[in-house]
Amino acid sequence: MNKALSSADLSAYWMPYTANRNFKANPRMLVSAEGMYYRDDANNQILDGTAGLWCVPLGHAQPKIVAAVQKAVATLDYAPSFQLGHPSAFELAERLKQYTGGRFSQVFYTGSGSEAVDTALKIALAYHRVRGDATRTRLIGRERGYHGVGFGGMSVGGIGSNRKTFHSAMLPGVDHLPHTHNLEKNAFTKGEPEYGTHLADELERLVTLHDASNIAAVIVEPVAGSTGVLIPPKGYLQRLRELCTKHGILLIFDEVITGFGRLGTPFASDYFGVEPDLFTTAKGLTNGVVPMGAVFVKPHIHDAFMHGADGIELLHGYTYSGHPLACAAGLASLDIFEQEGILEHAASVTNYFQDAAHALRGLPHVIDIRSIGMIAGIELASRPGQPGARAYEAFRRAFDDGILIRVTGDIIALSPPLIIEKKHIDDLFGKLAAILKTLA
Ligand code: PLP
Repeated sequence: MNKALSSADLSAYWMPYTANRNFKANPRMLVSAEGMYYRDDANNQILDGTAGLWCVPLGHAQPKIVAAVQKAVATLDYAPSFQLGHPSAFELAERLKQYTGGRFSQVFYTGSGSEAVDTALKIALAYHRVRGDATRTRLIGRERGYHGVGFGGMSVGGIGSNRKTFHSAMLPGVDHLPHTHNLEKNAFTKGEPEYGTHLADELERLVTLHDASNIAAVIVEPVAGSTGVLIPPKGYLQRLRELCTKHGILLIFDEVITGFGRLGTPFASDYFGVEPDLFTTAKGLTNGVVPMGAVFVKPHIHDAFMHGADGIELLHGYTYSGHPLACAAGLASLDIFEQEGILEHAASVTNYFQDAAHALRGLPHVIDIRSIGMIAGIELASRPGQPGARAYEAFRRAFDDGILIRVTGDIIALSPPLIIEKKHIDDLFGKLAAILKTLA
């Protein structure tokens, strides 16, 4: 570790989603980043197999983004967004609207993915109320869903370990659809699996139980990322859309991970050809450079609020909604997406990437490999009585060998920057294969 920091110097920072004592006994310290690589404090290069936390699709230290943020901070460092505006927030919203092909007409800014989720849930509740449908308050998430760490996102989320401690503090009136992960039926599938479309029909069961007139919204990740790369069965999202439309329930896609090119299209809704009423984004929106989230809404959602007495139509917002630095990073990111053929490049390496992942089949402990777009999940058998231990060891060894992988439970999730080239893919999977061959 860097000599400038002793282990005592590490104690004040309570790290998020981290085994703090374990980390501080054996720190992994990143000090710089460029393109496909991080560099640690011993000057080792580490290939970024995860785009940070799924949030750097364009690679690190993109000169156009760096320049745009530098210019923005020197011009307008901060501007309140309540009853005041600044040009780049409007410009970015218009550009984002165009990036959806104009199908989503307004954008509400937040500071993170968690805030975007809570904002989307609040908009859904307020939408029904403003239309005189105030009994529609029930929210439906899905088992194994991850929607961030706010009380709303946690409540609709479906990861037991995240929920356990806060069990008594969940939002009331929340139900969950079953998850769609089925290794017996779908192991080693490339793209959308065949089995499980019928699981969307579980929504009918919840409608029968509660009555549609009490249900506000369904929220799902089109592809669940944080919970270990769960790819929707063929036709599943279409079916959810049909049922939501039939029952007047809003469909929210959480595109915090899938937004901005992860599946090779601007958004997952483009990939699957299924349109939600609202969707959340964050991460790739600014290439991870400045924190920002955004909720995109269809015209009927926004229009419903623009009636009645003059005044604030939605009593909601954040100090950092539409932060000028985030807007500058967002605009520069969109420029790069649109001018530098990022999605075209990603398309040219997607098969190679997915094939490299599936080539790990047959290595010790590998019980499933699944892939879609520039995402691959490699599921390992758990060590008896030690869930997560095997993949965590793989993560530590990978870091020492110069590749950054992400693990959740015993699932390795790979989601590299979209600028990745074949030589990086060879390096990433070559090193991972060597680790898997010798992992106890
Ligand atoms: N929603 C999804 C689908 C996510 O994957 C995440 C984070 O990984 C979030 C929400 C929360 O985003 P944030 O960590 O920016 O609050």
